[in-house]
Amino acid sequence: MTIEGVADALRAATVQLAVASDTARLDAELLMAHALGLSRGDMLLRQRDLGIPDTFPALLDRRLSGEPIAHITGTRDFWTISLSVTPDTLIPRHDSETLIEAAVDHFATQSPATILDLGTGSGALLLAALAQWPGAQGLGIDASPPALAVAQGNAMRLGMADRAVFRLGDWAQDVESPFDLLLINPPYIVADLPLSGDVLREPASALFAGADGLDDYRRIAPDLLRLIAPGGMAAIEIGHDQAASVTALLKERGLAVALRRDLAGHDRCLIVTNPG
Ligand code: GLN
Repeated sequence: MTIEGVADALRAATVQLAVASDTARLDAELLMAHALGLSRGDMLLRQRDLGIPDTFPALLDRRLSGEPIAHITGTRDFWTISLSVTPDTLIPRHDSETLIEAAVDHFATQSPATILDLGTGSGALLLAALAQWPGAQGLGIDASPPALAVAQGNAMRLGMADRAVFRLGDWAQDVESPFDLLLINPPYIVADLPLSGDVLREPASALFAGADGLDDYRRIAPDLLRLIAPGGMAAIEIGHDQAASVTALLKERGLAVALRRDLAGHDRCLIVTNPG
């Protein structure tokens, strides 16, 4: 096949990428858009008028060698915002938007004024929530200094630096006052689980949580009750098979827990409320 235009290049790249990615067509489009300096939507609309950029083959090679799209483009969309990401943070997953959806439902009539994001990484959850509630202020905690630098950069680019504070910390150990909304996506993968694909390029500290994947829930649980303001809630991400074990662990602390599934129908989020 002679590759003449962007449409041909996208088709050919999709075939090549199918061996390396479950989302080959989307990957090809995102790389093409990045190479052209356009949004994916604009690239698709204008593809007949555009030439194939010289940089596209090199980007394709990087993806074929297993580098995640978000590392190649340096960005990832999450909820209504676009974030910069580097290998220092977890790449925000769309599944994690389930936590924001849970918060949007809970705060349907009254907005949260204060938001705490434990294990903030790129700042995705906190900044998405601050975008959702323009009157809110937030604190993001992480144990990784380079991740905090990424989060701070994102807050600045999004014009939210005056509403978001990022701080080095060990979960909620040094957090004193309660918050209206807590967003928590801790590591939860079983330590020796053999993984493959993109996840291997992400920081292990953001993924693995001991022999049963529950280490960080155990560390967080004792602080939850005191950290949720009356009328507030915590949305906590879980692995698809962890609803029962994490619920049990939270109930031991006297917390009321509800489950929310992600769009794929997998158990994804536990909701802890403080009825006040
Ligand atoms: N959901 C992520 C994955 O399956 C894991 C994120 C996490 O451990 N918090 O790769």
